[in-house]
Amino acid sequence: MTRAYNFSAGPAALPEAVLREAQAELLEWGDARASVMEVSHRGAAFEALVADAEADLRRLLAIPDDYAVLFLQGGATQQFALIPMNIAAPGQAADFVVTGHWSAKALAEAGTYVDARIAADAGAPYVALPPRAGWRLSDDAAYVHICQNETIQGVEFQEAPADLPAPLVSDFSSTLLSRPLDVSRYGLIYAGAQKNVGPAGLTLVIVRRDLLERAGQPRARILSYAEQAAQRSMLNTPATFPIYLAARVFKWLEREGGLAAMGERNRRKAQALYAAIDGSGGFYRNPVDPAVRSWMNVPFAIHEERLHAVFLEESDAAGLLALKGHKAVGGLRASIYNAMPEAGVAALIDFMHDFQERHG
Ligand code: PMP
Repeated sequence: MTRAYNFSAGPAALPEAVLREAQAELLEWGDARASVMEVSHRGAAFEALVADAEADLRRLLAIPDDYAVLFLQGGATQQFALIPMNIAAPGQAADFVVTGHWSAKALAEAGTYVDARIAADAGAPYVALPPRAGWRLSDDAAYVHICQNETIQGVEFQEAPADLPAPLVSDFSSTLLSRPLDVSRYGLIYAGAQKNVGPAGLTLVIVRRDLLERAGQPRARILSYAEQAAQRSMLNTPATFPIYLAARVFKWLEREGGLAAMGERNRRKAQALYAAIDGSGGFYRNPVDPAVRSWMNVPFAIHEERLHAVFLEESDAAGLLALKGHKAVGGLRASIYNAMPEAGVAALIDFMHDFQERHG
């Protein structure tokens, strides 16, 4: 058996170069005479690693100085709750734009803490974004929440929506680091790491410092962004190994040319795959409005439902893993994050052509 092209939506493929580096120093990390998993998070070596990781992330994303970077745990799902707890008063309004599965989840979870209002809802089957002009935004909202890239439906905001009366909060779980980004357009950006950043267990929060001064809601210190920022995300033991791997991913991204180069590569990958789907004469279909198609998650279906199972079996045997669509949508999905090389997308497209010839 060999390592295959992995199209999993998350936990997703990691850059092979990064896995090899981790393998090479798994038993002895630097001068530690122990693995990175076996040393104190308060030791000088690990503190230097975190400082370096933060500096690299700041450089990659050109994060302005008035933003704090937090390395947390609990996944994006925990942020659905921590965001209202930290930056909204109890029962204050917050506006949500619903564009698919994950933005709907964020809305539902926030309802425990805030008056969660639907500013716009694209409506099922969530294949387009609601036009900005039609959003009903509140005057008194603590923030406006969007999901930058809906991992399941494959719908992506190509840029930050403009002219908002409150700070923009965005779930970047499945698109952070996929292309350059103007952080200053957002009040808060968050992402579970396990798609485009590193392994599961690490959650990134990039938050404008003025939002840390908001009183928020009664909460334990461990749930406070301001406390975490003051303690450099070390209120308690952080996810040391995921942070180490993410730090390696940041170095890899810099070696690959940074986010501009990565964005061009991702654009080419997505364009090639959508062109293959659109050019299949209806054998394969992607239902999403071409203007908002995700560069990272490409859901598609075969015109005949029964062929999905055959496709999955044959593609897996051909070394193309995890192409099953999410159960909420069905069909197929190819997640093509940074770690998916162009050759992997080309191999998938070749397979799709071949499959169509045999079953079309
Ligand atoms: N938001 C988005 C956009 C996601 O894709 C996911 C995970 N698939 C989540 C939130 C939930 O993330 P977690 O499992 O890290 O809580």
